[in-house]
Amino acid sequence: MAVVGITTCRKLEDYRQAVLHVGGEVRMIDPSMSVADALNGVDGLMLTGGGDLEPSHYGEAPSPLLTDVEPERDRFELALVAEARKRDLPLLAICRGIQVLNVACGGSLIQDIPSEQTGPQEHNLKVPPNQPFSRAHEIWVEKDSLLATLMKERLNDADTVDVNSRHHQAVKRVAAGFKVSATAPDGVIEAIEDPAAAFCLGVQWHPENFWRTGEFRPLFEGFLNAAQTTRAR
Ligand code: MN
Repeated sequence: MAVVGITTCRKLEDYRQAVLHVGGEVRMIDPSMSVADALNGVDGLMLTGGGDLEPSHYGEAPSPLLTDVEPERDRFELALVAEARKRDLPLLAICRGIQVLNVACGGSLIQDIPSEQTGPQEHNLKVPPNQPFSRAHEIWVEKDSLLATLMKERLNDADTVDVNSRHHQAVKRVAAGFKVSATAPDGVIEAIEDPAAAFCLGVQWHPENFWRTGEFRPLFEGFLNAAQTTRAR
């Protein structure tokens, strides 16, 4: 069974369940480990949600609107991405994860969407306490992409799908070699991927919140299949 390394974060359970429900084995990874120890025996790496990255990692001064910076986690996860890519491990990066992935590969971030970009789109929609998730906005998925291939059964005729949204940052300058695979109606980047990698996908929404109902199960299935291939090689 393929082993998925998941970076620890505050709302861990849905990430765990999303992997367990497609038949993966979960191993928790945290900054107390060395990068090599964290990745040895791991067949795929999942980067999870959390606070903002230190903007110094992409050469910018911090906005006053930065929240929940975790410098130790930044250093660990940026090194983790570099090593995982060196090993060509399948990588699924969610929320803060897509931001870590993009910065680790040389891209930059919008530090605060509402203050840096005018537009009607709400990207930081709080979830009502009695609901596991709620629809925030649609995304348009790039036809010729890994994301489109994975989600082909679930996209409507206009290549869009509804997502949840709990972020105030987003990818700004896309890392070299990556392409944008989904955008929100206001142009905010919602997914990036590396076409040269076996499986390297970052998404800005929270597909793991849907593990009970399966709307984004194909993402986790595709990721696990890629991890299974890693295990076999
Ligand atoms: Mn969004």
